[in-house]
Amino acid sequence: MKKVLILEDEVNIRSFVVINLKRAGYDAIEAATGQEALDMIQKHPDIGVAILDIMLPDIDGFEVCRRIRATNKQMGVIMLTARTQEMDKVTGLMTGADDYVTKPFSPAELTARIDALFRRIGGDSAAGSELLAQGPFVMNTRNHTLEKHGNRIRLTQVEYSIMKLFMQNPGRALSREDILGAVWGKDYDGELKIVDVNIRRLRIKIEDDTSNPSYITTVWGFGYKWGA
Ligand code: CA
Repeated sequence: MKKVLILEDEVNIRSFVVINLKRAGYDAIEAATGQEALDMIQKHPDIGVAILDIMLPDIDGFEVCRRIRATNKQMGVIMLTARTQEMDKVTGLMTGADDYVTKPFSPAELTARIDALFRRIGGDSAAGSELLAQGPFVMNTRNHTLEKHGNRIRLTQVEYSIMKLFMQNPGRALSREDILGAVWGKDYDGELKIVDVNIRRLRIKIEDDTSNPSYITTVWGFGYKWGA
């Protein structure tokens, strides 16, 4: 059974999520503090997706995410945010998260996001080995690896999916809606802003000069274009 970790200190919300995860066919693992979540992840290395609340009694959800990402790039991470939290701040701090859900959320919304993350993780593993080489970049779509000048660049699942979309469409302007649909899925009902958050992060990893990007260029009022 696919394992999902829910880190939430408010017991009512946590129980609500657990019930709905079980109903959706997931194995739910609970944690009430950041430290407990990190312990659970050590104990259950096969957790596929982690849902992290931000405001917690010990370390906050962003820090939990950073610690997960220090050793694990594969796990899907969804942040739970409160509507009162300023979104610019939240997205800026989402250093390694794949997605976020704003409270209050419906069970259907949350499970749709989790399902989408699992689909991406399970993704195109059946596809044969294929190398995409453009400029200094080489992508291996079998191993899900990206190299620049022969050096491995570590990407999250979402960042990898965006890079793959770019490298399969060199020179083509892709709208933010195109990117959202291709990477997050057609059923995704989140905000377009998540695209920009991930592009910003991707640029830090792959551009020579982040303030003057040359590989992922912005097409103003539309989206982004890849050229290497
Ligand atoms: Ca909380």
